[in-house]
Amino acid sequence: MTGTLADWQHLIRDVPDFPKPGIAFKDITPLLANPDGFRATLRALAQPWRGTELEAVVGIESRGFILGAALAAELGVGFVPVRKPGKLPAATLKQEYQLEYGTDCLHVHADAVRPGERVLLVDDVLATGGTLLATLALARRLGARVAGAAVLIELSALGARTRWPREVPLESVLKF
Ligand code: AMP
Repeated sequence: MTGTLADWQHLIRDVPDFPKPGIAFKDITPLLANPDGFRATLRALAQPWRGTELEAVVGIESRGFILGAALAAELGVGFVPVRKPGKLPAATLKQEYQLEYGTDCLHVHADAVRPGERVLLVDDVLATGGTLLATLALARRLGARVAGAAVLIELSALGARTRWPREVPLESVLKF
């Protein structure tokens, strides 16, 4: 018996001023380290998507790899990594996106998904939404059909949902 995520969400800790002053970092490592907590997390992430036809989970570096790869195994589909520059060895598509100051960039292998395949995007935390929106753009440029996006934690006050396209289901397990 592993309980529900409500029994374990106290294992997510706020680390103040990381990685820079003013940011309260949602640290999920104590939750991942707890076997029952990790299983409850995966069950909660998977629940809205059971029965959805999918070919792959697309996970975003780096905590999206941990949750996304485990979720892919749980849902019985493949896993596709979206990575920071200079990490993927074969030909990639790249997508730049705005940060508060400057820009950042994500890559995916150009042959990671076949046109028409249905994918689910996964990350740990949805903050401003820039990272997930860039991943949505990459998946669409690959020709994927994006069935939805799943995040463990949504920081609601930052308003990412208002920038997210309404036709793409977005499920967050925990809202802060
Ligand atoms: P954003 O693009 O602003 O939605 O930021 C989302 C990305 O940054 C995700 O990959 C998160 O892992 C990370 N992130 C942003 N804010 C936080 C936070 N407060 N705690 C932990 N991770 C965060």
